[in-house]
Parts: sequence; C-alpha cells; structure tokens
Amino acid sequence: MITTQRGPRPADLADVRATNLAVVLRFVRANAPCSRADIAASTGLNKATVSSLVAELIDRRLIRETGLTENRIGRPATMLVLDGAPYAAIGLEVGLDELTVVAVDLAGTELLAWRRAFDGSAASPGRAVSAIAALASRAVKRVSGQGRQVLGLTVAVPGLVDAAGTVRLATTLGWRDLPLGADLRRALREPSFDVVVENDANLAALAEYRQGPYAGTAHLVHLTGGAGLGAGVIVDGRLLRGGRGFAGELGHVSLDPTGPVCPCGRRGCLEALAGIPALIRRALPDTAEDGPITDFAPEVDRIRARARRGDPAVLAALAETGRHLGHGVALLANLVNPEVVLLGGYFSVLAPWLLPAAEAELVARALAPEAGGTRLLASTFGTGAAAAGGAARTLEAVDAGRLPRHEPDPGRAGRGAVGGDASRKAPHRATGRPGPEPESGTPGEDVDALPSALAASPPGTATDNR
Ligand SMILES: [Zn+2]
Repeated sequence: MITTQRGPRPADLADVRATNLAVVLRFVRANAPCSRADIAASTGLNKATVSSLVAELIDRRLIRETGLTENRIGRPATMLVLDGAPYAAIGLEVGLDELTVVAVDLAGTELLAWRRAFDGSAASPGRAVSAIAALASRAVKRVSGQGRQVLGLTVAVPGLVDAAGTVRLATTLGWRDLPLGADLRRALREPSFDVVVENDANLAALAEYRQGPYAGTAHLVHLTGGAGLGAGVIVDGRLLRGGRGFAGELGHVSLDPTGPVCPCGRRGCLEALAGIPALIRRALPDTAEDGPITDFAPEVDRIRARARRGDPAVLAALAETGRHLGHGVALLANLVNPEVVLLGGYFSVLAPWLLPAAEAELVARALAPEAGGTRLLASTFGTGAAAAGGAARTLEAVDAGRLPRHEPDPGRAGRGAVGGDASRKAPHRATGRPGPEPESGTPGEDVDALPSALAASPPGTATDNR
C-alpha cells in the first residue's frame, strides 16, 4: 500500500480543546514558572480560555500553582509549574548483554534506573520475553507503590519493529517475527497503560531531541553503539520512520562487499566493520578467541584503559573503526544533511579515539563542503539512551495531546509517598550506566542516576506520531 498525504485528517480536528490543553501544557513545560497571562500572550488563546484550560490541567494534576507570585501591572499573578508527580512513564531497553529500565514522572524527574544482566544471544525468545516482563513488572510495581499511575511502558529493541509491536527482525538477538508487544501485554495481564515496542535507535534519538545539550536540534541523528549499530534520524523535528517504520538501518549498508560477514548474513555491512563486537575483536583479538562476548562493558573498559596508555595496536583499531564510522556518517550527511550526529552507547566512551579518524573520513567522503555542517559528537547519555527515550516517548504523547486524567487510588490517599524517591541518586560511573536491579526487599538501594534526568524539554513539534 502506498501512503498518501492530503489535508488534515478528521482526528486532527476532532478535539480542539484537547489540542489547546496540550498547547498550554507544552508552554508550561518549556517556560515554567509562568503565569496565565504569559500563556495567553504567547499562545494567542484568550484569557478566559486559558483560565479554563489551566483549571482542567490543575484538576488532572499535570500543572500546579506554586504560590509564588510575580507583580505585574495591575495585580500579582500566580505562577504555574509542571506537576505530573502522580504519573510515571517507563522505558525499558533490551540489549544483547543487559536490560535497562528507567522511570520518570511527567515533569521528567527520574524515579528509578536499574539494569539487569541479560544474555540475549543465549536466551530463547520465550525466556527473553519472561525476563523483560519480570523487570517491567518490578518497575511498574515500584512506581505504583509510590501512588503513581503508569501511563506507558515503551520497550526498545535493536531491530525492525512494526506498528503492531512485532519485532520483525533483530539479528543480534536472533529474533524473527516475535510479537513482543502482544506477549508483554499478556505477561503484564493486559495493563491499563500503553505497551509500545520501538526500535532502540529511534528512541535514543527521541531522548537526544527532548533533553541534553542538543535538545531541540531539528536535524539530529543518534548512532547506537551496543551489539548493533543503528541510526535514529530526526529530520525537521520529526522522527524519520519510512513506509513500514524500518528507516535508519545504517548498520546494514554494505561498505565492503568482500568484508566480514554481518549478523544479518550479508558481507561488509557497517555494523560488521564498525560495531562494538567488531571493535572488540579488532582491538582485543585474545578476547574473541574465548568465544562470543556476552558482556561488552568490561571489554570496552579494557580498550579504553589501553588507549589511555597509548597502546599502538588498540589506537590503530580505534582509528580504523573511526574511519568506518566516518564513512557511514558521510552517507547520512549526503542523504539527510544532519546538523549533529551523536555517537551513542559504548561509542560515546571511546569517542576521544574514534572521532578524529571519523571526522576526517566524513569530510573526505561527504559531497558538501565541510560535510554540509554535520558535526560528529559523543552522546552524553552513555548506555541507556533508548531506555530514557522510551520514557520520553510517553511524555511526548502527553505533550501531543494524549492527556491522562488523574485516577487517585483511594487506598493510598494521604500516604505522601509521591515524590520521595527522586532525590536518592548515586554518582554515575564513567560509562553512565544505571545501577543494578535491586534484590527483593531492599527498597531504596536501587536508584542510580542516568546522566540524563528528563528534566528540560524544549518546545517543539511532536516527534512521535504513534
Ligand atoms: Zn548487516
């Protein structure tokens, strides 16, 4: 079927009030603290409408009055900020060697960040679904126990995911046509919140677009650096999905028809040349002799330590990997002319040694002068960007008009549990990895900060249209 684009669809016009509520919510997210008069002046909505919209958003516990006032001409104005504490959004990232889960409240404050070892190459799809569901269920239980209403669970997978949440192909995990979304909904006993499965690179790009130093960059790419290598591509402030949602598979562009065999079965794909497993084999040939690598973090740490010591073989391996990455990024520069391309995952911690060769290759291979202005940089997320993006996807949906209505849990009224966890943050390690999943019965020991509290979100168009 060919997609055609015509004028506004009926749904776009169906609920003007919902749209206006979302306009006000986005304004407060971007400009808080602000007054009702500020909202009216900037949005063009009249003051009576703004008052009514604000009242509804306060009723839904999406924004609140601060008690602070600002003196204006005439009378003092009550200031508004985001609330959102009664709600939680959960993102869970499936890697080849670990599962990562994060939860944030609607203001973007991080509520939890856990990781759990996971041998994705050995687990059968059934066992993998069980492990994912178990971790998701614990996160749901934790935030629900704090009296929060879960609005969405988004699972990030390194593979091709269709609109129904079926993983059509995830080569590194060995999954084909796995109905992960449906399986998870069943395992979680058909929860009231959305369960969405999405490509990991797309979610990582969404995280970059919503927060961090490059937030709001209209033309942005995030390259995943885990077991696989994929590109999440934002063009004109929107995620580039393509006809069936499979856009961005930069890792499977063949750069060398005689090159090494890729997990996809083809030869010389960018992923086979420049992915993290390829880099480990190149830099640490002794490690690869011991069989498949199931945990990348220690090997990446070894590479980094040797690079710091100036080990010539490791530096050469990093430079060669950087050249292949630069070649791949030059294809992106020619096709979509991004403003920034962010090296994510384990690439980000090795960026000081990858970037010089990558930048030189990018400039040499891109047609436009200065590579069309494309800047190649390290992501600030470390690993876990896609988990953060998974949580951000739910916030994005709310900002786009899917507003929740607060459903107070009568059993929890007055317990004051909401908002107690966010302040417990341990210093993050160099790789920016979330903390281990807590053992049962040790609440409070689990919260470790990703380097990326979903705090600041720029104004902008929704990048996700699901
Ligand atoms: Zn491939």
